[in-house]
Amino acid sequence: MTILENVPMSEHTSFKVGGPARYFVKAESVNDIAQALEFAKEQGLPYFILGKGTNLLVSDNGFMGIVIQLGKAFSEITNLGNGKVLVKGATPLARFARHTINEGLAGIHKLAGIPGSLGGAIYMNAGAYGQDISQTCTEVESIDEAGNIHKRTADECRFDYRHSVFQELAANGHQEFILSATFQLTPAANENKTVQDLESEMQECMEKRRKSQPLSMPNAGSTFKRLLLGAADTPNQIAPGYYIEQAGLKGFRIGGAEVSQVHANFIVNADHATANDIKELSEHVQRVVTEKFNIHLQREIILLGD
Ligand SMILES: Cc1cc2nc3c(=O)[nH]c(=O)nc-3n(C[C@H](O)[C@H](O)[C@H](O)COP(=O)(O)OP(=O)(O)OC[C@H]3O[C@@H](n4cnc5c(N)ncnc54)[C@H](O)[C@@H]3O)c2cc1C
Repeated sequence: MTILENVPMSEHTSFKVGGPARYFVKAESVNDIAQALEFAKEQGLPYFILGKGTNLLVSDNGFMGIVIQLGKAFSEITNLGNGKVLVKGATPLARFARHTINEGLAGIHKLAGIPGSLGGAIYMNAGAYGQDISQTCTEVESIDEAGNIHKRTADECRFDYRHSVFQELAANGHQEFILSATFQLTPAANENKTVQDLESEMQECMEKRRKSQPLSMPNAGSTFKRLLLGAADTPNQIAPGYYIEQAGLKGFRIGGAEVSQVHANFIVNADHATANDIKELSEHVQRVVTEKFNIHLQREIILLGD
């Protein structure tokens, strides 16, 4: 296992900003994870688990700790039969989606355009176009900092809108590494569909993304979570972009960061933005939307560093 030093996080995040990680490790085994954590303990430094960095804003000052990313050995998909699929943590979600289409299995194919890893998708309960990763996930295997393996059912993962138990654990200083997840998918034929139908549905979602998202500029997807309004048992999801646009903020800039002209809930790195530009812009948007509509937008993007 190689421990790299002062690795620019701008090279590991879709925003293309962020200062150096003091240490950076690519773990190719559970043993590598244990060694990296031991090193962090010896140095008295915190650790952070990196997926593909597509929902992450790292401070310009970087992270005074060790960033641990699961390597290629954790990128694997195994068919277990009868629509059951086991997927390792570093597998790109797009690859998993493509695999399910090829296998004629429904339930994940609409997530093909989400650029993160399986681990990041479980952590965030990522979703799009009516499919959340939690809907088909049956079990998640993770390892904690003491080396204990946990197998949680989907219920035990406490999935909710862009929420999982892994966020609760991290908030309490106990990040667990998501090693793999098992899914129960539905043969397309059971939904009276063909493989071609799944392919077309996936392509339709990709086309919607191309039309509605600023994919030519560095970004990290939606800045804020959808608003859940209405009764608790029949919540109404409202897109934050509506309020941001109504507040006249589309195209508003701080430094090189811009509220996307294409999709108001995206902040883009339009011109050599710093992490601070992006953070300040997101806080400005929050402030203006609260002042105008008395609505508090909750950030979806994860912050790392000061
Ligand atoms: C263009 C674009 C479009 C997007 N569209 C969508 C969308 O439609 N729907 C949606 O939900 N999201 C979307 N996103 C956001 C993002 O892709 C998802 O949140 C994705 O699930 C993040 O995965 P990641 O591997 O990049 O995680 P990272 O950004 O690296 O990390 C996110 C969090 O997950 C944790 N994490 C990552 N891997 C692991 C692991 N193995 N074990 C434990 N914790 C881990 C990290 O510690 C961090 O707290 C989009 C992003 C972009 C750039």
